[in-house]
Amino acid sequence: MTELLHMNDNYLREFDAIVESAGKDYVVLNRTAFYPEGGGQSSDHGTLTNGSRTVKVLDVRKEEREIRHKLDGPPFKIGSKIHGEIDWTRRYECMRFHTCQHILSRYLQLKYNVETVGNMIKPEESRADYSPLEAFDDEMKRKVEVGVNEILNQNIDVKIQFMPRSVAIVFLQERGYQTRYLEMVPNSVQEFRVLIIGDFDAASCAGTHVRNTREIGHIQIGKSKNVGAGKRRIYFKLID
Ligand SMILES: [Zn+2]
Repeated sequence: MTELLHMNDNYLREFDAIVESAGKDYVVLNRTAFYPEGGGQSSDHGTLTNGSRTVKVLDVRKEEREIRHKLDGPPFKIGSKIHGEIDWTRRYECMRFHTCQHILSRYLQLKYNVETVGNMIKPEESRADYSPLEAFDDEMKRKVEVGVNEILNQNIDVKIQFMPRSVAIVFLQERGYQTRYLEMVPNSVQEFRVLIIGDFDAASCAGTHVRNTREIGHIQIGKSKNVGAGKRRIYFKLID
């Protein structure tokens, strides 16, 4: 299985790897810094080069238990040494959005007792789904914006810790994390990657995140809509 370098280092932009297998339009590497689409976060883009040929990476996803880098050109030969570079502008924006989504989710959980039931993290505008949340009028929207921005302004350190499953479950429950998400983690997973945003929030997450809330800027909440069964989808942007 491909070693996922982002798990330990969210700021790694370049890496060296070896091509382990290849398909018509993709390669599988022994290690990668590219984030494969998952957990609501869209995949990284970037380039792979063998020194003489550079190919764009259009998408990275888990398919048939492999991490496949989809290429804009023919794949490199198996055994090739390659150098990868991720599109940092796109990735860093996803990191800022993803940490912001955790803060928005925790804020809504604390203030309105709603659970996060889905998310879509991508550049320019991201979104998350909350339940039960029937209404979200302009006054509420403004209050949430102000409240989340007050948290962001506190320059809170964001840390990633690996914990044994049983330790993580106790830790997360004590911190008020949604048990729904703990139940979703398959039993085969014996180590949890826990994202800790100071005293404000703790969550199980495999995504990419910033080191401090000051990197995020400020949230601007956009439209929201009902997506059935008491669920409301809230869109948001980031501004300086
Ligand atoms: Zn997350």
